Amino acid sequence: MSRSVRAVVDLAALRHNLALVRASAPAARVMAVVKANGYGHGLREVANALLSTDAFAVSCLNEALCLREAGLLHPIVLLEGFFDVAELRAIAAHRLDIVVHADWQLEELERARLPHPLRIWLKVDSGMRRLGFPPQRVPAALERLRVSGVAGEIRLMTHLACADDRDSDYTAAQLATFDQASAGLPFERSIANSAGVLAWPDTHADWVRPGIMLYGASPFADARAGQPKLRPAMTLTGRLIAIHQLRRGDAVGYAGTFVCPEDMPIGVVSIGYGDGYPRHAPTGTPVLINGQRASTAGRVCMDMICIDLRGLAQMPHVHDTVTLWGAGLPIEEVAAACGTISYELMCKLTDRVEFEYLESDVKG
Ligand SMILES: *Cc1c(COP(=O)(O)O)cnc(C)c1O
Repeated sequence: MSRSVRAVVDLAALRHNLALVRASAPAARVMAVVKANGYGHGLREVANALLSTDAFAVSCLNEALCLREAGLLHPIVLLEGFFDVAELRAIAAHRLDIVVHADWQLEELERARLPHPLRIWLKVDSGMRRLGFPPQRVPAALERLRVSGVAGEIRLMTHLACADDRDSDYTAAQLATFDQASAGLPFERSIANSAGVLAWPDTHADWVRPGIMLYGASPFADARAGQPKLRPAMTLTGRLIAIHQLRRGDAVGYAGTFVCPEDMPIGVVSIGYGDGYPRHAPTGTPVLINGQRASTAGRVCMDMICIDLRGLAQMPHVHDTVTLWGAGLPIEEVAAACGTISYELMCKLTDRVEFEYLESDVKG
């Protein structure tokens, strides 16, 4: 008997969300960001559902090779470029695009003897202060690429630090900085992540780089109206494996952090931090049983969580399915309860979770 911890991924939802990217940024080409195992959804399966994208973006060579092994011929961009010069041979052989963000990478490229030039995305630091060349060093970096002959086509990119905050003026400042750095240069440009796609049309440029919105979660902390209707791709479920009728004053779980305020039913669900459910989920984190809201009670264990079954219209039964996030329970809400973001919850699922892929036929 399996533990019945399941992530059901709706491939039609992924395609629906890609269509929303296209509708939101109609003039841009799309680089679908599938790093970190497709944000935890399964790299190959996600990529195969998104074949109509113009390119894929991943964070490292292994992820790119996985896509090539799956037979995908799209352009694939390594968002951090190469980490080690030894990767360049495979990068060239598999026709991967690289981001170049640092002087040490330029030095390695100048020394490298490549069989053919590479497509290079020169990364400009417009204010994120993580990777990239500050604007004043862009001309010298471009000159080094030109002289070295390693660059086939050159493109420019930058990354937004505050696009998820619709009230921040930082995005406009970054855009102005990037515009200045790229003024007069004949290269294609990329700026926008999901938040840029949805909230900052001026950042769409030639290529958009959506990640989280493809998986159906909002990049914004606040759920403001007027957002296109993303469809969550993943529903994570466990099973109710025990129900106890406890007495007022009974302590539940490790360290007894939840003490029953009255006589009440407590359920035990077959999922825990060993599956990637966040251990720091506090008492009160929402779950869904048979369409009814309930919430966690006490500490998350490695293999199980306890839930408060008070006040449900229908009492659930052992073996009932419990939804941790997805259909009927937005992952954003669970993430907010846990003091984190949906991205982290998605990425942290472990390989104990059984993945299942389906195509819903719901329209819109
Ligand atoms: C992860 C990433 C993205 C996608 O960001 P989302 O917020 O998930 O849309 C875009 N660009 C770069 C450089 C990234 O690292």
